[in-house]
Amino acid sequence: MRKNDMFFYLSRFLITVLISITFITLISFIILRPVSGTKENITKLDKSEIKSKNIPNVPIKNHEKNIKVKVYISQKRTVEEMDLEEYIKGVIAAEMPVEFNIEALKAQAVAARTYALAHIESEGGKRCSNVLNADLCNTTHCQVFMHKDERMKDWPKSKGEAYWRKIEDSVKETRSEVITYGGKVIKEPYYFAVSSGNTENASEVFSESIPYLKSVKSPGEESAQKYKTSISYSNNSLTNIINGYYPKSIPSSNSLKSNIKIKSRTEAGSVKELQLGKTTVSGVKFRSMLGLNSTNFSIVFNKNSVDIVCKGYGHGVGMSQWGANAMAKSNKNYKEILGHYYQGTKVEKL
Ligand SMILES: [Zn+2]
Repeated sequence: MRKNDMFFYLSRFLITVLISITFITLISFIILRPVSGTKENITKLDKSEIKSKNIPNVPIKNHEKNIKVKVYISQKRTVEEMDLEEYIKGVIAAEMPVEFNIEALKAQAVAARTYALAHIESEGGKRCSNVLNADLCNTTHCQVFMHKDERMKDWPKSKGEAYWRKIEDSVKETRSEVITYGGKVIKEPYYFAVSSGNTENASEVFSESIPYLKSVKSPGEESAQKYKTSISYSNNSLTNIINGYYPKSIPSSNSLKSNIKIKSRTEAGSVKELQLGKTTVSGVKFRSMLGLNSTNFSIVFNKNSVDIVCKGYGHGVGMSQWGANAMAKSNKNYKEILGHYYQGTKVEKL
């Protein structure tokens, strides 16, 4: 064999080997690709992982041990750790009249438990923004909470123990139950004392649309003491209050009537915006300026004074406590009550 022929055969052999290797690699890649996991599968897996990591809402899971909650007791300036179920008893005692129907107390128990969970940091909640090292404070900023002995002082001695047992029953009968929306514990189970006959859309009060906080009818609350209230101001004092917040918006107390005008109302009938001279103010702001019971008010101008007549008590979003009691008295159970005030939600066990 000549030297040139040898090179020819060697190079042809090498090219063949190279082509074969390339071919085998290609074939094995095509064959093995579906076995080792398709791109689609990997994407799905990643997405589900990301989703579960990014959801701040509390997932439903089985709690074998008791959930603990850290409560700031403002009177003592201390943080107390207690069982969630014990904490709920103290919230019902402080937040709802114990004479209410048991189904209303049970609805309150579930709403209070859900609210607490939305604040318990270890459960994925956002703790109270007013105090350090506590999940919730015991004031209206979070939920009002009272210990049994403290609450009993205000109750008639002969009824105290029976009242407390009623609260304990409402907690026991709803143990671990929370309000969920789309399979997750809701973050805004707001409630308030008395409605004006309708609850508010969250979007019109908090400028944030929350799907389960929609305006619903809430009849039967007329017997509540705070259903209708009236506050009287002299023209002078109201002018001074308004000008204190918005200087020179009312030129003189004589021109008060022509300088206050209700501009718009919410679906439920509350004041959305009002005109104070040249300034537009929200009903929520006006309520806080004057310490009104609600934003559902009308203004009556007399010769030297102004009456502000309010309907309802509280922010009007979510469950009305008096409305819950009215529903309970007409034989609705706590799940029906919660389903009415928190539209599209369910009651589920943790
Ligand atoms: Zn708080």
